[in-house]
Parts: sequence; C-alpha cells; structure tokens
Amino acid sequence: MTTYPANFCPYCGADLTGREIEGRERQFCPDCERVVWRNPVPTAGVAVVGAEGVLLTERAVEPGIGEWTVSGGHLELAESPREGAARELREETGVRVAPEDLTLLDTFSAAPFEGKRVVSVGFGVRRADTAGDPHPGPEVSAVEWFTPESFGDGGEVFHPPHGQRFEKAWRQFE
Ligand SMILES: [Zn+2]
Repeated sequence: MTTYPANFCPYCGADLTGREIEGRERQFCPDCERVVWRNPVPTAGVAVVGAEGVLLTERAVEPGIGEWTVSGGHLELAESPREGAARELREETGVRVAPEDLTLLDTFSAAPFEGKRVVSVGFGVRRADTAGDPHPGPEVSAVEWFTPESFGDGGEVFHPPHGQRFEKAWRQFE
C-alpha cells in the first residue's frame, strides 16, 4: 500500500503497469504479480472544549500552513484512533487526556493533497477531563481557545473541513 502513486514496485523495484482489478484501474507489478493498493490514510483528532472555547492549533506544515484545525494527525501502526488522538493532542498542544475519556464526535474525508487522501476520526472531551497547560508543539505555530464568535476576529481561517468539527464540538460539549 502506498500513500502516493508509486514509481516502482515497493516489493521488488520493477516498473509498474496498469491493470483493471475489482472494477478500478490499479498499479500492478508484472514481475512479482502484486497489486500496489492505494487507500486513504487514517488520522484522528480531539477537540478539547472548555469555558474559553474549543482548543485549536495553527498549522506550521503543509498542507494549509497558517490555517487552523482541531488537533490531530496520523495514527501510528499499532494505535487505535482514540490512542492516536490523545497522543497527537499531547504532542501538538501539551494537553494530556486518557484515551478512554474521549467521546466519538464525527468522521470526515479530507480533500486530496497531491494525490494523498486522509480519513479523520474526531473525538471530543471537556477541558475538565484533561490536564496540562496548552503550548504549541512541533508542526504547530500557535494554540488558542476560540468560540464561534471569536474565531476569525484576528483573520483566522479554518483548514477545511475543521470548521464543521469545531462547530459540532462546541455545540455538543459546551
Ligand atoms: Zn514487484
């Protein structure tokens, strides 16, 4: 499985051809007769909601540098979505939460970026069930609390579709 279209077979290094398999055109290795499957990449995130608003992060990496998101990122190989969401929150914001304290909020498929597609599982949690003071970690340039009223006052824009996750978290956990 590859995130981006492959130039060569990831198993044996041979040149790839195209072949229709299960109704779609796939990349196929004629040497080792393997299909190079491409699937969306799973990610997970968590919206922390407190009296000051929902905790958001400003992206410091592409895609969408300078845009705001609910904290989240790629799952490590052996992680469940809630474990990955809790780890990303800690890495990006310094806020700690037990994975079992997270409540499922939503899922979305993000717009493709350079051929890469991600699926995100979103959780929510109240601030009272978390610990640690928010501060920006690597890959994040700022961490701030926003309400639907305050967001955008400083020219902030969402990295879509995080605006919908933000709104839903605020309605559900306020
Ligand atoms: Zn091969």
